Amino acid sequence: MSSVTISKGGIERILSGHPWIYRADVADAASAEPGSVVRVVDRRKRFWGQALYSSKSQIALRLLTRENRPFDRAFLAERIAAAAAFREQIAEGAQACRLVASEGDLLPSLIVDRYAQCFVIQTLSQGMEKLKGTIVDILQEQFSPLSILERNDVAVRALEGLPEQKGFLAGEEIQEVVAEENGVKFGFDLLGGQKTGGFLDQRENRAAARAYARGRALDAFCYAGGFALTLASLCESVLGVESSAEALALARRNQELNGFTNVEWKEANCFDFLKTSDQAGERFDTIVLDPPPFARHRTNVESAMRGYKELNLRALKMLNPGGTLVTCSCSFHVSEADLLEAIAAAALDAHRTVSVLERRTQSRDHPILLTVPETHYLKCLILRVL
Ligand code: SAH
Repeated sequence: MSSVTISKGGIERILSGHPWIYRADVADAASAEPGSVVRVVDRRKRFWGQALYSSKSQIALRLLTRENRPFDRAFLAERIAAAAAFREQIAEGAQACRLVASEGDLLPSLIVDRYAQCFVIQTLSQGMEKLKGTIVDILQEQFSPLSILERNDVAVRALEGLPEQKGFLAGEEIQEVVAEENGVKFGFDLLGGQKTGGFLDQRENRAAARAYARGRALDAFCYAGGFALTLASLCESVLGVESSAEALALARRNQELNGFTNVEWKEANCFDFLKTSDQAGERFDTIVLDPPPFARHRTNVESAMRGYKELNLRALKMLNPGGTLVTCSCSFHVSEADLLEAIAAAALDAHRTVSVLERRTQSRDHPILLTVPETHYLKCLILRVL
């Protein structure tokens, strides 16, 4: 196995508990094959761990282990089994969940999502791409899935010099699968849907929102109706608003799957919709705001904050007293404190008093690592308007 020499900065990264070592902290990678598992050493040849090496990305090394035993098929299988065992503990009964969450499961740049008997993977670095065949073998061995497909049609692959691609890797060619979540049936389009087919990270928040939902509800940025349909049995009526016609087609099909007759959908830009509804004096008892990430880069934080304030202002103005706002941000660069600040400003402008019922984050099958801030991206606040 070849070695990559890191500088002092790289050692500091490892000592700070972060698995990424940037190219600037690599002193010598001359002998390393792109995408190979390498020994990480310092200038004195001291061993620091094993990592996936990327010849293209600014993240040159992704640490796999500090241990000095071969990172082979058995090692990989062990990590996948451990990740799956944890889901048995915390996502028992969830037919769809994230089985392997990259850094959060000590398998940086690997995502494995399970939708009932169908598995979807993403290999987001040169190293994981090289291990793809082995990963598919291990998944077949451990779970005997009906099908495995890849959703590697994501832009971050370009940073690794990898092409965007999607398609079936093993088993039957099953594109659509139904999986139950919180007692509601959802059909997932594994090849055509957003992400790997659904927003699994909101599973626990959709369940949490059930504790408060009632009356007339609005699910803004509803995608395939995740929140709308989870809340439908508790509310008089639900309106799901979404700009993507494809997403709304899924939402309608999901509504039919469950037989709800009190849910309606509207294709619209939520910013426009919220503004006109507010101006028309519409009122709701429950509102969910789950927009896409407004700040994909640090430089967008300011405009993102304006976006969050605007959405939350409209929502707060339209909520009846005693009503609930479930408001989310999946922008890593916007912290929970930032989001609370934007909503506080909105509450002041709306002349509403707001209490914080729950401060939540992504579902536990998307683990947050204490020393890896990037693993904490989703904020979900459940608020009550007094
Ligand atoms: N709440 C959903 C996930 C929402 S993801 C769930 O629980 O599954 C964000 C959604 O917002 C995406 O479906 C995207 O198509 C939609 N979207 C993005 N910009 C929008 C806009 N300006 N108006 C309405 N929908 C938008």
